[in-house]
Amino acid sequence: MDKSSAKKPHIVFLFSDTGGGHRSAAEAITEALDLEYPHKFTYEMVDFFLNYSPPPLNLAGPVYPTWSKMDTLWKFSFDQSDDPDRMRVIYSMFWPYIRLFLYKLLREHPCDMFVSVHPLINIPLLRAMRRREINKPYLIVVTDLVSTHAAWFANEASQIIIPTQQAVRKAIRANVKPDQLKIIGLPVADRFCKLVGEKKNIRDKLGWPHDKVVILLVGGGEGMGPLEEISREINDTNLDVALVVITGRNKKLKKKLENVKWSIPVHIYGFVKDMPDFMRAADFLLTKAGPGTISEALIAGLPIILYHRISGQEEGNVSYVIDEGAGVWAPEIDDIIETLKYWLENPSKRQEAVDNAKRLARPNASREIAREIASRLDVHNR
Ligand code: UDP
Repeated sequence: MDKSSAKKPHIVFLFSDTGGGHRSAAEAITEALDLEYPHKFTYEMVDFFLNYSPPPLNLAGPVYPTWSKMDTLWKFSFDQSDDPDRMRVIYSMFWPYIRLFLYKLLREHPCDMFVSVHPLINIPLLRAMRRREINKPYLIVVTDLVSTHAAWFANEASQIIIPTQQAVRKAIRANVKPDQLKIIGLPVADRFCKLVGEKKNIRDKLGWPHDKVVILLVGGGEGMGPLEEISREINDTNLDVALVVITGRNKKLKKKLENVKWSIPVHIYGFVKDMPDFMRAADFLLTKAGPGTISEALIAGLPIILYHRISGQEEGNVSYVIDEGAGVWAPEIDDIIETLKYWLENPSKRQEAVDNAKRLARPNASREIAREIASRLDVHNR
C-alpha cells in the first residue's frame, strides 16, 4: 500500500458464500463507493465462516445448498432461533469456541469501519470488539427483504440498513432503536440500474423473436428447481410464447434441454454474465425467490412468477412480491401455466404487475448506502 492509499479510510466487508446474495450485495456496495467516491477508500472482503470459524462452522458455505434444501429441518432451526433472547443464548454457548477466531479477525483486519452483509457475524463480532475496546463504526446491510432473522439485529451496531418497510417490525422487536434503522433497499449491481439499450435492440442482439412474449426462466446461480419439467409443460401447453432458460452452473441440465425437440422457440443458456440485458429483453420472469433476482427484476419492471423458496428467510420474499402485486406464488406447475395464460389473456393485469414492480424498484439503493458509509468516514475532508 503506498503512502497516499494508507491515509484512505479502510473498510472491511464481512460476508460469507452461504448462497450468492451476500457476496453480490457487498460487491454492489464497493462498486457504488467507487462510482460515487473514486479512489477515496480502500476495502477488503472477509469471508468470516471460511477463514475465521472453527470446524465444522468453516464448512457453512459448501454445506449451505444441501442444508437449506432440507426443508423441514431448515425451517425448524430458522424458526427456533429467530428470537433475540434465544440468539444471545446460542451465541453465549458458542462464545468459548469462536472468540479466539474473532479476536484474530480483528487483529488481522484493522480498519476504519466494518460493513456486514451477513446475519451471523454481527452479535459475536460486536461482542469481541467491545472486549478488545475497538470502537469503530459497524454498519449492517440486511440482505433479506422481509423475513429478517433476529441475528441481523445486533443493537450495538452503529446503523442497520433494511431493504423494506416490512422489515421494520422485526427490527423493533429485536430492540433496535428507530434512529439506528434506515430503510434504503437491497444493493444491486450498477449495470442493473442504468437504462441502456432498447428492448428491441437487445432482442436482436440475443436472437430472440420480436413477435412473441418472452418468458425468462431462472433457477438462481445453480440452475435449481424443476426447470426441465416447467420448460416441457410450457412447451406442451403450446402457449404462444418464446422461452429462455438459464441453467446457471447446472451443465447437465443445459445439455439435457439442448437435446429436446421443442415446438415453441426455446433459447437455452448456461451461466450468463449479462443478466441485466436478459431481464430487460424479457416479458415475464419465472424464478425461485432469491432476494437478489427479485430486486433486479423489480428494477427491470418484470412481472414475477415464483415457483420455489427456501423456508424461513425466503418466505417473506414471496409475500412481499404477492402483497405488493408484482407477481404470484406458483409452487405447482399447473399454477405456473394458469398464471401465464391469465397474463397473456389479460394484458391490463400484466401491466398492473409491471407498474407495481417499478413502484417497488430501488435502483439507487447501492449508491445511497455508499453515501451512508461515506458520511460516517468524513471522506469530504480528506
Ligand atoms: N445470476 C447471474 N447469471 C446466471 C444466474 C444468476 O448473474 O446465469 C445472478 C442473478 O442475477 C442474481 C444472483 O445470481 O444476482 C442470484 O442471487 P439470488 O439472491 O437471487 O439467489 P441465491 O443464488 O443467492 O440463492
